[in-house]
Amino acid sequence: MAYNAYDNYLAVLKKAAEKLGMPENDYEVLKYPERELKVSVPVRMDDGSVTVFESYRSHHSIARGPCKGGIRYHQNVDENEVKALAAWMSFKCAVANIPYGGAKGGVKVDPRTLSKGELERMTRRFTAMIMPIIGPERDIPAPDVNTTNQIMAWIMDTYSMQKGYAVPGVVTSKPIELGGSLGRREATGRGVMFTARNLLAKYGKKLSDVSVCVQGMGNVGSNAALLCYEEGAKIVGVSDVSGAIYCAEGLDLKEIAAFCQSGHLLEAYHAEGVEHVDNYSLLTAECDVLIPAALENQITAEVAKHVRCNYLVEGADGPVAADADEILENRDIVVAPDILANAGGVIVSYFEWVQNLQSLMWDETHVNEMLEVQITKAFNDVWDMSQSHQSSLRLGAYMVALNRIIGAHKLRGIYP
Ligand code: NAD
Repeated sequence: MAYNAYDNYLAVLKKAAEKLGMPENDYEVLKYPERELKVSVPVRMDDGSVTVFESYRSHHSIARGPCKGGIRYHQNVDENEVKALAAWMSFKCAVANIPYGGAKGGVKVDPRTLSKGELERMTRRFTAMIMPIIGPERDIPAPDVNTTNQIMAWIMDTYSMQKGYAVPGVVTSKPIELGGSLGRREATGRGVMFTARNLLAKYGKKLSDVSVCVQGMGNVGSNAALLCYEEGAKIVGVSDVSGAIYCAEGLDLKEIAAFCQSGHLLEAYHAEGVEHVDNYSLLTAECDVLIPAALENQITAEVAKHVRCNYLVEGADGPVAADADEILENRDIVVAPDILANAGGVIVSYFEWVQNLQSLMWDETHVNEMLEVQITKAFNDVWDMSQSHQSSLRLGAYMVALNRIIGAHKLRGIYP
């Protein structure tokens, strides 16, 4: 059966509600996105031709506050994927206990095929077309796969031009010069590192005791790998869309993260003792901690049977398929779920939005310390819930979130 991210979400939602003994009627609303917008985005290409891009913005829930979620540019974007990513954002914001609901957006495009001018025109037109449903009090986009802080700057400018005044709080993860928060760029990776550290501590281990493999060397993967490395972990393998590199003695992550962050692909990285392997070998390499930080549905049932880690920390959204999750659980591989492990990005996006609304600028140490407090509190809430219900951390995280979202929903009631 073809993978469907939204079915994956519904399956976990059902399991978590059953574990809590929550009647279906109580969470019926969470089975559907509250609002979906599909737009066709025409762009005048450099050669004078016109291309129309299929694009979406989906709001899952506003029970706990305005919607929050990234925008993805990828050739595989479709309605189901955007819907699922939006629902996961509602749950992620609830686990992190920040006052937001969930949203997500996507444009079906391989941005590598566009010139910079085409990318800017597409971004500005997409922003104009989703304008009726975004805004600092309504829905605050952020980056996701293949969207950068330059793209956030174009969104902020397009929205502000339409309003007639500067509105920095309409997007997060902006360049610092435009009201971006210090620490936001590394925040998702830093949160992944904190989660790995918190998880290992429960088993009497430290990052300096373990070996790590990371799939994906974009914003999340490169920062997670570098920060784990700086905490003393031995990073034995990393990968990107071009392939993977492996070294049992440990990779020089300072050099490799800088190489990837300056726009190079790993296929072009060469160093003594470093072997080039394929993506499957990376995912199934022997290591203590595996961090998938690329795309969803990477750990399929087939991969799950062969992974050789003890802990799996989800840097990406939805990297483990539902049937793979069961296999990992039966193999006693502990999974720190995405809605907890990669919540660092949205936590610092929330800090950025708060700074924008108050025209403040916090220093980086303050941001990083507050992130550590918030994500550690979320980790402990999830850990305690999973212990008291004898469940996986994934179900624990969904139960924490479900209680919070449905609690808010019940207090508000159904309008009218
Ligand atoms: P990115 O575009 O910066 O990086 C994606 C990385 O994955 C790149 O290194 C790319 O080469 C690699 N990749 C793509 N296809 C691959 C494949 N088949 N095999 C191996 N590597 C592959 O994206 P990002 O912002 O780092 O996001 C990565 C994941 O993390 C996504 O699932 C996203 O939803 C999630 N996420 C991102 C943030 C954030 O703040 N950026 C926050 C929470 C969750």
